[in-house]
Amino acid sequence: MTGRRPWDPGPDAAATGRDARVGAGAPSPAASGRQGSTRGGGGSEAPALVAEGLRKTYALGRQTIRAVDGVSMTLRRGEFVALVGPSGSGKTSILAMLAGLLRPTEGSVHIAGEDLGGLADRRLARFRRRNIGFTFQQNNLVPYLTVLENVTLMLSLNGRYDGEGARRARELLERLGLGDRLRSLPSQLSGGQQQRVAIARALIHQPPVVLADEPTASLDTERAHQVVDTFANLIHHDRRAGIMVTHDLRMCRVVDRVVVLRDGTVDRTIEDRAVIERLAEEALI
Ligand code: ADP
Ligand code: MG
Repeated sequence: MTGRRPWDPGPDAAATGRDARVGAGAPSPAASGRQGSTRGGGGSEAPALVAEGLRKTYALGRQTIRAVDGVSMTLRRGEFVALVGPSGSGKTSILAMLAGLLRPTEGSVHIAGEDLGGLADRRLARFRRRNIGFTFQQNNLVPYLTVLENVTLMLSLNGRYDGEGARRARELLERLGLGDRLRSLPSQLSGGQQQRVAIARALIHQPPVVLADEPTASLDTERAHQVVDTFANLIHHDRRAGIMVTHDLRMCRVVDRVVVLRDGTVDRTIEDRAVIERLAEEALI
């Protein structure tokens, strides 16, 4: 557990509106030396990801569940965003729609300028393979392939497996602390190690957009920070756009923006560096 969470309204939240303004009273963005939202480059560059008016309803018997109820967001290249919120607030549904794994009931997703809604299933699958890296809450590794093969599989599927790809896969796995487990099968790894393989698999084909659902859920604190740091470095350095769903606010330390969800809508967005850092620190208590 991570202690108090800012989306926990608390007993008096409704009366005071406290939870609607976490950033209120905070100092203006710290001159922290990070480039933050300007990292994405010139304003003329097309955004890596644009989601507009996303809605998702599920039919459950005679009931209709509004899992996502009007969510819009734009990510520039080089931007890393955390999606946080209580269980059931729609995080996984949003990420799946952004990844083209789930068709929205309403709204649109553009990735690298392509409207996912305009692609038929096969073209969408191909587009996804090339342009989106995704890690699932359950890591979905192929059980009969080794660690290295699970990662290079993404390259093979894209017809881009070669010596250089294999070298990059090894290097990435080393950076994620798995250099000595290349020939292991997923069943021979801990949950945390499996999660790191899944992260390598999401990054290896160098997609412009990387989406990770709870990538640190099964990692110990030290490893979680390490994985998220590596993740952030790769996103910033290679100017990819990344979204990480997390329950652990400490992991927000490295992101450029925190989007807080509640009941399928964006409750608030926090971009102020100082506020993000405070959020991540306070989660330690
Ligand atoms: P989170 O990842 O934040 O926990 P989800 O996107 O998984 O949220 O779920 C949002 C809401 O939609 C929840 O109320 C959940 O029970 C419901 N839901 C998710 N997937 C389905 C589904 N396939 N069928 C019906 N309801 C679903
Ligand atoms: Mg989820």
